[in-house]
Amino acid sequence: MVSRVIPVDPFDLVIFGGTGDLARRKILPALFRRFCSGQMEDESRIIGAARSDLTRDEFRQIVAEAIAEFNTSKDCETGTVEAFLERIDYVNVDAKGEDGWKELSDLMIPGRVRAFYFSVAPSLFGPLAERLHAHGMADADSRIVVEKPFGRDLETARALNATLAQHFDESQIYRIDHYLGKETVQNLMAVRFGNMLFEPLWNSQYVDHIQITVAETVGVGGRGEYYDRSGAMRDMVQNHLMQLLCLIAMEPPAKFDPDAVRDEKLKVIRALDDVEPANIVRGQYGATKGAQDYAHDVENPRATSESFIAMRVNISNWRWAGTPFYLRTGKKLKARSSEIAVIFKETPHSIFGAEAGRHRNILTIRLQPNEGMDLDVTIKEPGPGGMRLIDVPLDMTFAEALGPEGEDVPDAYERLIMDVIRGNQTLFMRGDEVEAAWAWTDPIIEGWETRGDRPVSYEPGSSGPEDALVLIHRDGRRWREIRS
Ligand code: NAP
Repeated sequence: MVSRVIPVDPFDLVIFGGTGDLARRKILPALFRRFCSGQMEDESRIIGAARSDLTRDEFRQIVAEAIAEFNTSKDCETGTVEAFLERIDYVNVDAKGEDGWKELSDLMIPGRVRAFYFSVAPSLFGPLAERLHAHGMADADSRIVVEKPFGRDLETARALNATLAQHFDESQIYRIDHYLGKETVQNLMAVRFGNMLFEPLWNSQYVDHIQITVAETVGVGGRGEYYDRSGAMRDMVQNHLMQLLCLIAMEPPAKFDPDAVRDEKLKVIRALDDVEPANIVRGQYGATKGAQDYAHDVENPRATSESFIAMRVNISNWRWAGTPFYLRTGKKLKARSSEIAVIFKETPHSIFGAEAGRHRNILTIRLQPNEGMDLDVTIKEPGPGGMRLIDVPLDMTFAEALGPEGEDVPDAYERLIMDVIRGNQTLFMRGDEVEAAWAWTDPIIEGWETRGDRPVSYEPGSSGPEDALVLIHRDGRRWREIRS
């Protein structure tokens, strides 16, 4: 199967924070892969911007090293790196000062799409927008890409939205959540709205419950200070898990267009019930031989932030009343695995008798590793031993289903950056969505602070705290095994 690559018109992409971790690990390798695929015309340019005093060649060297270290694509031909580096430029700019802005604005070519990627600390998002405007770069051809975190509560998110709105129209603001760029997440919409099979069953009458799990094996790494201020609730639930929940739960939009999709997602967030403290478990990983505990990693012995969270969430609308959503995310868990599992109800009656057992269908959407989907269906166990039933997965691993191309599933950033250039906001969060998500999250966090709640400890390499098992067991259900 050969996928069609439609080149985009020549564009300029300015990466503020072009020398930073995200740019080197994700943004630059993603652009390189799009270049290899033929999607970037030769005249397109990528301009790194940061305070470091670098020449163009020194920045090109950084880009070359980033590609050597982080590019995983197999389909780039020899010599492509050199050709890609020809597209790279660098400007020494200070987001908070006046240095470099004139040089940057002189580089801009009028009339072509111009994207400014804010891959810098969130405190610089506002100053960057202001300076782009002040230096005449916030015109109709411009768009900005804003990284997470988008605020740390409703008030700060509102303030940031207001600042950005002073200089850019909402249609020019791309708030990125890279989970939305994952191939499987988009496939979730294709499966739901491109097939007759699922949508009639996609409601509380047929779905028993839904589990969303994002499990990591790593700890907080070098991000301790940031993490202690955020915790898993702000870092993962308010954005990534909430976005997955929205895509699973939303009504079919009238068309696959940015505002139609985002209107439906917003309705889901607004239909979320408040979460009682009894329906949330927070955890911090403990120490193991040779590895320190969470408080040590975030360098705060009194840390009250969480590295794990599990919660039961209810959506009060006609489709979902009565079907709980269980969300779970954490660090230092037993495997790196992200999935959404839609667990259907058991058949109302078994014609095969009690000995055949009760069976249920499960649709699993795997985000990582092995992006793909499984549908567990019940069949007869082969052989002459009577009508014994077993559950087998109908496997749609992209690598197998799509052949060689499936093995090379594009990274989320590739898709999302090209959407920015094409001007398609469907997979980006709108300002009101982000605010609604904070409006739901804030009271939960405030409750912890007011009551002085502390997370419980859990063993690294486990599935999280025991209390998280109890959270779901008491509803007569159990978590799916975390495995990669
Ligand atoms: P980082 O490694 O600390 O890089 C920060 C970049 O900003 C550097 O290139 C730095 O270069 C530049 N910078 C700092 N102050 C500046 C100023 N006043 N003017 C212009 N440039 C300035 O940070 P990062 O990890 O790449 O993260 C960047 C953003 O992405 C953050 O908002 C983060 O929350 C978000 N994010 C990161 C990841 C990740 O995996 N890293 C994941 C999701 C979201 P100079 O020092 O040379 O100026």
